[in-house]
Amino acid sequence: KSSNLKGYAPICLGLEDFYTRRLYLRIQDCFGRPIASAPDAWFDVVERYSNDSNKTLHRTTKTSKCLNLGSYNYLGFAAADEYCTPRVIESLKKYSASTCSVRVDGGNTKLHVELEELVARFVGKPAAILFGMGYVTNSAIIPALVGKGGLIISDSLNHNSIVNGARGSGATVRVFQHNNPAHLEEVLREQIAGGQPRTHRPWKKIIVIVEGIYSMEGELCKLPEVIAVCKKYKAYTYLDEAHSIGAVGKTGRGVCELLGVDPADVDIMMGTFTKSFGSCGGYIAASKEIIDHLKHICPAHIYATSMSPPAVQQVISAIKVILGEDGSNRGAKKLAQIRENSNFFRSELQKMGFEVLGDNDSPVMPIMLYNPAKIPAFSRECLRQHVAVVTVAFPATPLLLARARICISASHSREDLIKGLEVISKVGDLVGIKYFPPAGEGS
Ligand code: PMP
Repeated sequence: KSSNLKGYAPICLGLEDFYTRRLYLRIQDCFGRPIASAPDAWFDVVERYSNDSNKTLHRTTKTSKCLNLGSYNYLGFAAADEYCTPRVIESLKKYSASTCSVRVDGGNTKLHVELEELVARFVGKPAAILFGMGYVTNSAIIPALVGKGGLIISDSLNHNSIVNGARGSGATVRVFQHNNPAHLEEVLREQIAGGQPRTHRPWKKIIVIVEGIYSMEGELCKLPEVIAVCKKYKAYTYLDEAHSIGAVGKTGRGVCELLGVDPADVDIMMGTFTKSFGSCGGYIAASKEIIDHLKHICPAHIYATSMSPPAVQQVISAIKVILGEDGSNRGAKKLAQIRENSNFFRSELQKMGFEVLGDNDSPVMPIMLYNPAKIPAFSRECLRQHVAVVTVAFPATPLLLARARICISASHSREDLIKGLEVISKVGDLVGIKYFPPAGEGS
């Protein structure tokens, strides 16, 4: 039916996975080629990332530069930085790329200890512990905190690493409606015998897990309301700040700062270094007792090689810039810039007639495509015009809620954003995804 999209008429097929018996969606173009092997923004090889306004050198377009509207590089620390990069190179020379050891057995450098102290101070908790990967931080920590006899209540749109950790923990898992504290309370009340918060409850421990900014929705967590419910029912709060730490809040301290929540009211704070800090790895920040417990029993701490020292140094340097401890005000400028860029881009998309999910200040902004058949055309047409976007579909989203997920960075210039908007607008017309009348037209 896409008569103006010659060669792009995609065909969607529901396929059942032979092993897991789950239904998957395969999208192929009109020639029967699966889109995964056709030229696309993210299925090809990236040649390099450059630091001029968040650009990516991409092979598909014969190594021409693309405006990168899909990277989690929220503060622009992911490419060469005048403060971070020389220090990272120094740490590489001093410690090498890997400790080749676990933390408890020779893999504990001064840098690891320094970063744990810095993270704890930054997020406002007494102590912190590092892990080599954000994904593993959730999937390995949740089972170390709660097990058989415990109850996990998880937001229905929590990230796969949380789902994986919850399933692997052996605890009973209940899901509440996405970002709906009233439903959370309903589920909690149901699970506590006679609705008595302190006594006679059947669970050893109850943990409620939420995200600061939901990665596929761009929405801020209703954290104050969630905390109020948790306090009432004596449940622990676990907050994944992967997309919010460093990215929101006046001084980059995430949703707690943005929403005026005291970090003392969040029992377990989790975050990753792969987004705002331009590195890799993850952390848990909590009370000294919880962190000591994790250090003693968590297999991902005891048996896994510690974080790569240059990656640790990258995070230390980035946090110092954010805090102004590099002696400049670049951190404050970056934070003001990401906020301005995000709010500008979101409101312009809305004016054009796109349906954009998420809240103001959030750098994550999904543009709804709905029909998964629109994914290949949207993605490839944007790429042809040197704008790289990420498109997301089932199973990461419900089947008919496909979307393009834009991530805005402080390193995007105003010209970049305007170019991105122009291209998205043109491609949006072509693909037919402007579901509202543009501002000024219609009622
Ligand atoms: N939590 C959330 C909410 C995420 O979105 C992600 C990945 N994007 C992770 C955890 C895993 O983090 P990482 O990619 O750093 O392993």
